[in-house]
Amino acid sequence: MSWYRPHLKQLQAYSAARHEFSDTSAILLDANENPFDSAFNRYPDPMQRELKEVLAQQKQVRTEQIFIGNGSDEAIDLLIRAACEPGSGKIALCSPTYGMYQVLAQINNVAVVDAPLTSDFQLDLPKLLSKSLDCELIFICSPNNPTGNLIATEDLSTLLEKARGLVVVDEAYIDFASGDSWINFLDQYPQLVVLQTFSKAYGLAGLRVGTAYAQPEIIEVLNSIKPPYNVNSYSQKQVLEALRNPLEKQRQIELVLSERNRLTKALQEFSCVQQVFPSEANFLLCQCNKATELYRYLLKKGIVLRDRSKVISNCLRISIGTPQQNDLLLSQINQYEKDTLY
Ligand SMILES: *Cc1c(COP(=O)(O)O)cnc(C)c1O
Repeated sequence: MSWYRPHLKQLQAYSAARHEFSDTSAILLDANENPFDSAFNRYPDPMQRELKEVLAQQKQVRTEQIFIGNGSDEAIDLLIRAACEPGSGKIALCSPTYGMYQVLAQINNVAVVDAPLTSDFQLDLPKLLSKSLDCELIFICSPNNPTGNLIATEDLSTLLEKARGLVVVDEAYIDFASGDSWINFLDQYPQLVVLQTFSKAYGLAGLRVGTAYAQPEIIEVLNSIKPPYNVNSYSQKQVLEALRNPLEKQRQIELVLSERNRLTKALQEFSCVQQVFPSEANFLLCQCNKATELYRYLLKKGIVLRDRSKVISNCLRISIGTPQQNDLLLSQINQYEKDTLY
């Protein structure tokens, strides 16, 4: 049985002009472009070949194992559209987690099965395995958003051994984590898909570039259903440049990690804070006495946090800012405690 919808086997993917010919030194009269040279008069490379070469080298995979999307959100959408029949398809997820899995499933008229994380934010394996038996896709986010923790390696291995559908491991925050990427296990688990993004550690959220890594058979299907020019040429160029200059990114990650450490300790000192959960990402999940009250107070002072108290009782999600931003946050929480007589 194949993982994707049977009608896609017959799909004749659109072959764009630049699929067939990418040599830009030739005289290109094939794509009805404007002939007058400017930075953007040509269509982008639909297969992002240059970008994939560099990524393949850095990630130690083959270019055929890489899909590049308009953000990893596009990869999530395409995976659902490839694997799940509208009306009868199903995905599994483990709440609380990234909201887009559910949203994109709903948009595609695909059912969502939830096997909630345990109280220490780990997989409830027996429940997940039994509930996901007839799911085409299982979404696991590690480090998980909004809880910030890595999912235990042994549990994910067990899931990958027993699951029938594809297992999608979303590693949007992996660059901030102490654990290794699941990309290293692609050859061991043929139904594994790993998602990464340039939106977080790389600081390129505005460019909308995300990646999926999987076996070539899976990548091929995603490529056949994606919009031909899904990643624009400016984004391809900027991401290439970022990949060739890894030092700046590394410096920023180290600063974020030291700020994460500092902020964790400082927040724990406040009486309005109950606990700060350990984080493997660039945000902190912080349980407060009155989360929504603190959230509104800070909002009035011009500081925007993410109120997650509907998902996890009295919890705010705080992105790690610059040292100055974090200082301001701390001083405003200090002021909040004075104003509300803590
Ligand atoms: C931010 C985030 C993404 C979004 O990635 P884009 O590449 O910007 O679409 C994906 N997954 C998780 C868990 C995220 O938190």
